[in-house]
Amino acid sequence: MDSKNYDVEKLAVATVASHTAIQILRGAKKYGFRTIAVAGSERAASFYRRLWFIDDVWIADFSSFKQVAEKLRRENAILIPHGSYVEYVGWRQALEAPVPTLGCRELIKWEADQHKKMELLKNAGIPTPRHFVSLDQVNGVVIVKLFGAKGGRGYFVARDREELRRKLARIDGDYIIQEYIFGVPAYYHYFASPVYNRVEIFGADIRYESNVDGRNFGLVEPTFVVVGNLPLVLRESLLPTVLEYGENFVKVVREMVRCEMAGPYCLESIIRDDMSIIVFEFSGRIVAGTNIYMGYGSPYSTLYFDKPMDMGERIAHEIREAAVRGRLEALVT
Ligand code: AMP
Repeated sequence: MDSKNYDVEKLAVATVASHTAIQILRGAKKYGFRTIAVAGSERAASFYRRLWFIDDVWIADFSSFKQVAEKLRRENAILIPHGSYVEYVGWRQALEAPVPTLGCRELIKWEADQHKKMELLKNAGIPTPRHFVSLDQVNGVVIVKLFGAKGGRGYFVARDREELRRKLARIDGDYIIQEYIFGVPAYYHYFASPVYNRVEIFGADIRYESNVDGRNFGLVEPTFVVVGNLPLVLRESLLPTVLEYGENFVKVVREMVRCEMAGPYCLESIIRDDMSIIVFEFSGRIVAGTNIYMGYGSPYSTLYFDKPMDMGERIAHEIREAAVRGRLEALVT
């Protein structure tokens, strides 16, 4: 992006009306930006229109996002991508949308492929679950993930090779077979700041998943459909490792994807009873787990600004500082 083409006095912050839009646009308004929500239906639009911090709510057809992106550009907008944005417009359109978009867009492509995703984490020196290329290699409990599975739907576990063989026979399409890690889930929210040249640990959460977290007494197959998020404060002794993995991730993206991380991202892990952290997934953009801290900030956010801040505010802070310093190009692709 050439920020000279943008009127930095009239910047707008825009996102798709879902996922973390409330947090993003509320934060943007607090920092004085004009705010735009792009909704996919009248029903969604009428909800977002009730929120005082959203200046414009558009209704758009996500199957032809290019026109929307062009209009956003004319409005001096910076688009904040999130999980629902990529899901609604599709990764190909997201890659090409002609509007400055926060963060490293190229990562969206890597995220669409489970193998590339794990390769990136491994190359970062971050411990990941073992993965098995063929049935014969499998020994022990595994989890199978279908490509493009959403919210954990389309994942299943198998106790042994026999069960795996039976279950694989029922599915179609690409998948990855991973060692199932026993422990507790923990998701780390980071913010990569080009303005301050650092990675910040910004919070952590746990996902609340049906049926693994439901009162199902082991009577149903486990499913991992996310229905909400719970806050998490980590044992302080874990923080150095969590930060190290977050920083390693930025380095590997620079080396392998050839772009700079900017803005929020997340590493998703299981922590074993020996306190080792095994990362099975990442999100290259804001995750819905950050919504927990909307309005009051996560405890970790006070480490950097000595006041609580939520992720929406943190994004707006970065955009404002980058605009003031003439460095908006460092934030967007
Ligand atoms: P995801 O959709 O990738 O976030 O995964 C959905 C859920 O599956 C996670 O919240 C974890 O609880 C679980 N999960 C994914 N991969 C593994 C693994 N290798 N070992 C244990 N649990 C996993």
